[in-house]
Amino acid sequence: MRNQILDVLELPRRLIRSELEINQCPHDIQYYASDPACRGCFDGPECQWLYATDEVAALDSRSLDELMQALEFAILSVAAQLAHAGHPLRCTCPPCKWLQQAEQLHKQALGSNSGA
Ligand SMILES: [Zn+2]
Repeated sequence: MRNQILDVLELPRRLIRSELEINQCPHDIQYYASDPACRGCFDGPECQWLYATDEVAALDSRSLDELMQALEFAILSVAAQLAHAGHPLRCTCPPCKWLQQAEQLHKQALGSNSGA
């Protein structure tokens, strides 16, 4: 389950990174908690998420709960991007397919988590 979540986090990381790059972050997409510009940044939550999920090595040591939170954030963020871009309900582009997959995985993970 952990590895599945790690796998599924790859696409939103790419998406969010490319989205943030367009906005020309002065810190090269590293969240600086001490910089008021970062704290007030519209992309702050995405940036913090990206930063928090940056190293796969570090992610390996995270608890399943933390991975689930990262997954939940990714689902919300991708869903918002797709809604904003006006993708139809039955769209089959990679991010839309990813969203369906991720939501399913999230449901499965919730089920196995409470069972354990
Ligand atoms: Zn789509």
